[in-house]
Amino acid sequence: MAAKGSQPIETRLFINGEFRESSSNKTFDVVYPYTKEVVAQVHEADVQDVDDAVAAASAAFPAWRDLGVDGRGALLRKVSELFLEANDELARLETLCTGRPISQYIDAKISSERWRYFADGAWSMQGTASTNTPGLLSMTVKEPYGVAALIIPWNFPLIMFSMKVAAALAAGNTVVLKSSEKAPLTSIAAAKLIQKAGFPPGVVNVIAGYGNPTGEALASHMAVRCISFTGSSLTGQKIQAAAAKSNMKHVHMELGGKSPAVVFEDADLEAAAKATQFSIRLNSGQVCVANSRVYVQESVAEKFTELFRAQFSQFQFGDPLDPTTQQGPQIDVLQYNRIKEYLGIGAKDGQLTLGGDANDGFFVKPTIFEKVPEDSRLMREEIFGPIVAINTFKTEEEAIQKANDTEFGLYASVFTNDLDRAVRLSKALQAGTVGVNCTSPVNAKDAAFGGYKMSGIGREGLLYSIDNFVQTKSILIKA
Ligand code: NAD
Repeated sequence: MAAKGSQPIETRLFINGEFRESSSNKTFDVVYPYTKEVVAQVHEADVQDVDDAVAAASAAFPAWRDLGVDGRGALLRKVSELFLEANDELARLETLCTGRPISQYIDAKISSERWRYFADGAWSMQGTASTNTPGLLSMTVKEPYGVAALIIPWNFPLIMFSMKVAAALAAGNTVVLKSSEKAPLTSIAAAKLIQKAGFPPGVVNVIAGYGNPTGEALASHMAVRCISFTGSSLTGQKIQAAAAKSNMKHVHMELGGKSPAVVFEDADLEAAAKATQFSIRLNSGQVCVANSRVYVQESVAEKFTELFRAQFSQFQFGDPLDPTTQQGPQIDVLQYNRIKEYLGIGAKDGQLTLGGDANDGFFVKPTIFEKVPEDSRLMREEIFGPIVAINTFKTEEEAIQKANDTEFGLYASVFTNDLDRAVRLSKALQAGTVGVNCTSPVNAKDAAFGGYKMSGIGREGLLYSIDNFVQTKSILIKA
């Protein structure tokens, strides 16, 4: 099927080095959120297809592992180049699935960097050796698990694909990746590039489908030894339960957030307003690290909120494929209806001071609620829309208490010009990443990424990604 006058869109499953239809021949629709047109009908993997993909990955594993870091790295580098060449097509496909403005698309470039990075990253799979025990040489080495299952969400799907697939392969695993039913097209396009790069059949398998049955079959498969998941905390709990019940497979989880930003009276208020409004505006608020709760010190609350509102109210809705569009629609009717429910909760529990409207084009206006009770669902649940709650605090202790009063712990920001305070807050905030005078410049090249509490288990980024895909073996040699 072709959409928007470009190349035909590949919609099949990629199993054992070939594209093929699903066993049941069932497909599901991919809808462009702006026009609500069906742009592709993608093959839905059923349990048989999951079995086939895992069997292909199992068969390919020994030879892939034994290729060594250099052999595997050479193929990863080829993919890195192919991603750059395919930039425009990947941008078009991702926009068609997600409705994120194409003007914001740098994902093929970021992904290409990740493939290049992990091509060399596996040299970090080092262990230790010791002769401390008389008559014994003790060695501890790192080995891949075997077949890695990778399950990704719909926001930023190409980057998610690359972070997981490249790291798992570099470490010597073979993979079965399940894309999100909302945004499967760039994963399938990436599979085409992987095929073109010349990977041995079965090393990479890419399937599409819903959580049930496709995701569940993968998470509970007995031949899968580790799983890396990015998505909501609720799904993470289900996957962890399936992993435990089946074969105790190793789990790595990157989950949801309800990230706070704390703005003190000594901060550069203009910079703080600029950063915090951008964080909740990006991708129409559909970002795991978006600061959906902003706490501002009472003495500067009016001034800060005014600065925030002035910038946050500047937006231009439009067709995400139009390069001048700044804000696209929410991804689909489910997400749109969810957000409308939160708009109702905010209006009931707090004070609406900007936005509050949604239209059936799935567009939601940037929205501010103030004076929202901390126990309101608006403050406690992840919304995934351009909706922010701005509340106030008097003291540092109160700010820390409020910021930490959540089951999530993905990201937290503090804005202050007081170095002592910055250090105290960096230690006190319960989050996998704390940004001082910045929101979420997540860059896997510079820092580990992951969550405290219900926001995750394990870390991604840097060589932490490699750690998710290796197990440790001790070898004892008696003289
Ligand atoms: P989701 O949890 O609904 O789905 C994620 C993936 O899990 C999809 O591929 C889905 O098909 C699959 N799935 C659903 N049920 C399953 C099951 N029972 N077994 C196996 N797989 C199943 O999440 P979403 O709506 O696609 O993405 C948004 C969520 O992802 C938000 O909560 C966001 O915060 C989170 N997210 C987190 C990060 C991070 O790095 N921490 C990054 C991006 C998104």
